[in-house]
Amino acid sequence: MSTVRFLKARDIAPWLEELSRDFTVLAPAQHGSSIVFREFDPARGIELSQLSTTPAKRALLPPCETLFEYETTKTLEPPYKTSIELKPTLPEGKSVVFGARPCDARAMQIFDRVYNGDQVKDPYYTARRDNATIVTLACSEQEEACFCDRVGGSPVDATGSDILLTPLKAGYVAEALTPKGEKLLKSTSFMKAEGLRQEALNSRNRILEQVPERSSFLDMERNLLSLFGDLGFWDKTAEACLSCGACTYLCPTCYCFNITDETRGESGRRIRTWDNCMSSQFTLEGSGHNPRPSKAHRMRNRIGHKFSYYPQLHDKTLACVGCGRCVSNCPVSFDIRNAVACAIQQAGAIQEQAHD
Ligand code: SF4
Ligand code: SF4
Repeated sequence: MSTVRFLKARDIAPWLEELSRDFTVLAPAQHGSSIVFREFDPARGIELSQLSTTPAKRALLPPCETLFEYETTKTLEPPYKTSIELKPTLPEGKSVVFGARPCDARAMQIFDRVYNGDQVKDPYYTARRDNATIVTLACSEQEEACFCDRVGGSPVDATGSDILLTPLKAGYVAEALTPKGEKLLKSTSFMKAEGLRQEALNSRNRILEQVPERSSFLDMERNLLSLFGDLGFWDKTAEACLSCGACTYLCPTCYCFNITDETRGESGRRIRTWDNCMSSQFTLEGSGHNPRPSKAHRMRNRIGHKFSYYPQLHDKTLACVGCGRCVSNCPVSFDIRNAVACAIQQAGAIQEQAHD
């Protein structure tokens, strides 16, 4: 049976300080009006009162990372050959992501299928993933924009977590779910708490009871595919969109990237940066052709990818964890829940017409 410990609220910061000696510790902290995952700093503190504005994905896929550095040497005489020396820059060191929410931890498993799959393994991602321990905080309630329950998760879901923290009065019950999690619970910051296992379970059940009954967004593949050719539907859906990309940068499951070489003189580096499928330059080819030339095409791709293409490739798992960040932070209040609900309705109407 897994280890269960209790952590008093006032002992969180000392524990994170202790962890910071051996790990890079990322935790949500207030930054202006936002809550963002940053390296833990006792002076800055942590902010656990609500879902962070940015997701924890930067722990596994940083917004910008150097894949390797290079140095070129040219011979000055015929045949003027250029040789290149590559210096790999694989990430090193262990990390702890503290205070991820169940949706964030679940999202990491969506990344795993892409970057650490059976056939393709991204060495940079897998190095970070293998060395990361995820400490998840179960949510006490769903915020207004949250819909994890409609996409296969829940406010107390432990998927993808190494430790699950359940908030009780005065502190947190910490349950280890993996060997990595077990190791972290050996700290003297924790108190013994086997007797609290049931209390934590009861608390989580009470939270689950508050989740409203509402329609699921699972099994959307066919609905969306039947709308693929209906560009009018996507035009209407994307009408107000500004193509700003906030929704994809803040999404814990968006994983597209760009590769760029930065060269100065004889040396340089190859970098990988997050890409953004809502931008007008996404998939723009060198020839000038763009297979997704309009907002409608890009919106179809974003929603289609999360609710249709990804689930088709990955055992029906949706590439949306219902965190609601894209809903809360869109400057024109685009709500992906409404778009998906409209798609279900529209697809239903098409099917009815076909039967008539
Ligand atoms: S955040 Fe809103 S406006 Fe910006 S790209 Fe996404 S849907 Fe469009
Ligand atoms: S699409 Fe929106 S709700 Fe779904 S995981 Fe991304 S940010 Fe969260």
